[in-house]
Amino acid sequence: MKKIYKWLLNTLPRPMLIRLSYVFKKFAPLIYKGDAVECPVCERSFSKFLSYGSKVTHRDNVLCPYDLTLERHRLMWLYLNQKSNFFTKPDLKVMHIAPEQCFHKKFQAQKNLDYTTGDLVSPIADLHFDLHDIPLEDNQYEVIFCNHVMEHVKDDLRCMQELLRIMKPGGWGIMQVPIDSTRTTTYEDDSITSPEEREKHFWQYDHVRLYGLNYPKRLEEAGFEVETIDYKKELSDAAFDRYRLMKSELLYIVRKPL
Ligand SMILES: [Zn+2]
Repeated sequence: MKKIYKWLLNTLPRPMLIRLSYVFKKFAPLIYKGDAVECPVCERSFSKFLSYGSKVTHRDNVLCPYDLTLERHRLMWLYLNQKSNFFTKPDLKVMHIAPEQCFHKKFQAQKNLDYTTGDLVSPIADLHFDLHDIPLEDNQYEVIFCNHVMEHVKDDLRCMQELLRIMKPGGWGIMQVPIDSTRTTTYEDDSITSPEEREKHFWQYDHVRLYGLNYPKRLEEAGFEVETIDYKKELSDAAFDRYRLMKSELLYIVRKPL
């Protein structure tokens, strides 16, 4: 049973897993019973997490078998809980672009939030629009999340500027992207267009660039103030390992100047 379960979770693409997660939720706590790793999002512990990733991004022990969170989701959740007013400030107006399924229902249920989701096509989003030209008024949202989107869009600077435009002055956001921490600059090449070549060069078949360590500079270029947080410094080594966070992953908190 454990083998079949593991095979399924390692074989099916994550979007399909997410759709089937109501099945996994029933079995995961039994099959992965234990206390070696912990997911702060579903508040459950397991003997281990599952492996995840494409040929170039494969990692062991990272995918929560219950709600399918990855390192980046657990990192964001810890920040929101421990370092932000996200769960406490009344009437917080939030725009969540490309909403992650593991957060979507939890955020929707959060009484303090005026919560809207947006996406180009996702059926779970409230609004559908193109980030290059957002059909919303200026200075609307106190919080904006837009994770793992900028590596997919044609003109990332334009999309960042659009998000800045709809953010309230003094507002903040989280805009994570995959980053190759061995690169100082972002790698872009318009001539790489086939899914195979994109996966080889940019880590995934539908990525159009691979960001380097200069990513926060790009956000600043768009007009955001950027705070870079290394969560290794916020947790004990034991807690960092237990949550199975990624050592090279930094959190980029953007703010719109007042
Ligand atoms: Zn979980």
